[in-house]
Amino acid sequence: MFSKVAIVGLGLIGSSIARGLKARGLSATVTGYDGSADVRTRARDLGFCDAIAETPQQAVEDAELVLVAVPVGAMADAVTSLASHLADGAVVTDVGGVKTAVIEKILAELPGHVAFVPGHPIAGTEHSGPEAGFAELFEGRWCILTPCERTTETSLAKVTAMWSGLGSHVETMTPEHHDIVLAITSHVPHLIAYNIVGTAADLEEVTQSEVIKFSAGGFRDFTRIAASDPVMWRDVFLNNKEAVLEMLGRFTEDLAALQRMIRWDDGKALEDLFTRTRTIRRGIIDAGQDTADADFGRPHGHED
Ligand code: NAP
Repeated sequence: MFSKVAIVGLGLIGSSIARGLKARGLSATVTGYDGSADVRTRARDLGFCDAIAETPQQAVEDAELVLVAVPVGAMADAVTSLASHLADGAVVTDVGGVKTAVIEKILAELPGHVAFVPGHPIAGTEHSGPEAGFAELFEGRWCILTPCERTTETSLAKVTAMWSGLGSHVETMTPEHHDIVLAITSHVPHLIAYNIVGTAADLEEVTQSEVIKFSAGGFRDFTRIAASDPVMWRDVFLNNKEAVLEMLGRFTEDLAALQRMIRWDDGKALEDLFTRTRTIRRGIIDAGQDTADADFGRPHGHED
């Protein structure tokens, strides 16, 4: 489909896209570049790109599509480093988990002869680096595209075709709406997980070894999220401040209401809420966004 795709940033997301493009024959050539020499060496050894360039300029030469997959805080630097070598008519896209702030930074660096299609695949794991990627990461997941003033019809069609080719469903929305939706579905849940794991680590009356030993009570599911990349998540919170603070305000009000229900023995209100939340879980399973298997399908000792 593409003659050459250049991927800048070869961590979990960049390397998964490279693997997916090759596995599904979506680009004749996939060239990668990463700011870290160590990652470039590891990527070469893993062999998921046709070529690993030594500079961002080399990577994007003659590329029809340039995909920037670096942490949100590094997007502007990454685009600055390759801007001068972008081919005429090239399409630039990104995968940043925050859109409004990232778009503003990228637009300031982008030369006039290229189109830009901001994007965000709603797929990932708590692992990072080129070894963590896999070709199937985006299959059956959603990818949100947030067209901006530099998105043309053709460029939007190309990037949509790439994500569909990788097995994703594509939806478009405004960058502002994306940032609000992701604040509640991703950013605040991560903050809650970081907070509860941090609180448990600081407790004095319950030992750390007890927290670890008895984690199957629910705590360990928060630890998966709280193990996510510290740099990536630092950048997400610093770049989606307003939407996160707005949703946190709502969250703390609802938490206060829950505290009141417990204090005043309002079992009915607690049960009503827990019944509503169970329906949301069922909806996620019905939509194929998670497994229906008990305990997320974890193997248990009594099973064969
Ligand atoms: P990652 O595994 O940490 O990989 C990012 C890579 O980019 C690292 O190898 C990093 O090298 C490199 N890099 C940093 N600055 C660079 C620059 N200026 N030029 C070239 N390479 C540079 O991160 P990831 O999980 O793939 O995330 C990448 C992007 O995807 C982020 O914007 C994130 O918001 C988005 N995203 C992530 C997920 C997820 O679940 N992880 C899901 C959807 C979208 P160093 O380590 O040496 O800095």
